[in-house]
Amino acid sequence: MTRIPIARPLLGDTEQDAVAEVLRSGWITQGPRVEAFEKAVAARVGAREAVAVSSCTAALHLALVVAGVGPGDEVICPSLSFVATANAIVHAGARPVFAEVDPATWCLDPADVETRITERTRAVMPVHQVGMPADLDGLGAVCGRHGLQLIEDAACALGSEYHGRPVGAGAYLACFSFHPRKILTTGEGGMIVTSSSELASRLRRLRHHGMSIDDRVRHEANTPLEEDYLERGWNYRMSDLHAAVGLAQLERLGGILDARRQIVARYRRALAGLPAMLAPFEPPGRRTNHQSLGLTLLPDAPISRDALMARLLDAGIATRRGIMTIHRASAYRDAVGDLRLPHSEEVSDRSLLLPLFVPMNGETVDRVCAELRCALSGCRQLER
Ligand SMILES: *Cc1c(COP(=O)(O)O)cnc(C)c1O
Repeated sequence: MTRIPIARPLLGDTEQDAVAEVLRSGWITQGPRVEAFEKAVAARVGAREAVAVSSCTAALHLALVVAGVGPGDEVICPSLSFVATANAIVHAGARPVFAEVDPATWCLDPADVETRITERTRAVMPVHQVGMPADLDGLGAVCGRHGLQLIEDAACALGSEYHGRPVGAGAYLACFSFHPRKILTTGEGGMIVTSSSELASRLRRLRHHGMSIDDRVRHEANTPLEEDYLERGWNYRMSDLHAAVGLAQLERLGGILDARRQIVARYRRALAGLPAMLAPFEPPGRRTNHQSLGLTLLPDAPISRDALMARLLDAGIATRRGIMTIHRASAYRDAVGDLRLPHSEEVSDRSLLLPLFVPMNGETVDRVCAELRCALSGCRQLER
């Protein structure tokens, strides 16, 4: 019996051909494919500008830098997130301040954010958790009242919608990831979208060592151009090989979103009535891309989360623990002292992520659900 994976990227001939074409072209790092990918993402999301970089972590770092966040500043973010959210804040020289999430949506709770604002707070970084858009209206109001920047960790949220508009449309700064666990992949990669052309040009400079001229401009110039380094930047470039994969992937986005929604609907029907619920909850006005599907065990579940995961793995079904809490990771534990975030800890400890990928056929969903039904209704073992 082959193991059912938790996730699997959807890659095919179009991606292979696109990479081969870049290899044949002789220009493999940041070049025309990156520019085309940026334009395509900006158009899909409805953003004025998109700037491609090597990862979403790099994107978040640069977004913080151009927003003016630096040493001495505090940035409020959820602890219930991948560690990269807080690491990026540290890379910018600032201090992450962890706030609570709404246990239903798994996203930052604006009221809790407001209680953690100090005179050092400079920005709020919500995470659209596993694709579920955060409460941008509520957080925007908090930021407006206190003069704070809103920088979105949209790593998982390409294709998600907030009040009918794609996440990233009109955003001050929002950052997407193209890691293989995300909705689309380029292997590794990130994209910053922004409504500001000035921020976009500074982002383009900073990803390329702060250099005053683009490599391609120099390559194509008829006179020797001398570059200057206007500020100290990084090498955060995306390569044309990655961007070519991204362009091919973007064609698949609509189909992937539809397929994931259908798979989740099948899970929902099959798991009704059990002491567990699919998570996070999608409130009115928000539409998730279902980057991951959580299952939260209710207090009366007859099995613990970890025992359930072990049992599923025995049955050939891979799952993952629910989202980590950063404040309990070794790298952050000392810095946060005795901080407790009960909602975040509860979500993290009681949930797991279920297999969800395209294509995942109905039979496979049913096999996972049969194991879950058995384990969650107290039966010893499913006959196989
Ligand atoms: C995946 C992820 C990141 C990091 O993305 P990379 O492209 O791997 O750097 C950051 N934040 C969140 C919430 C993520 O899920």
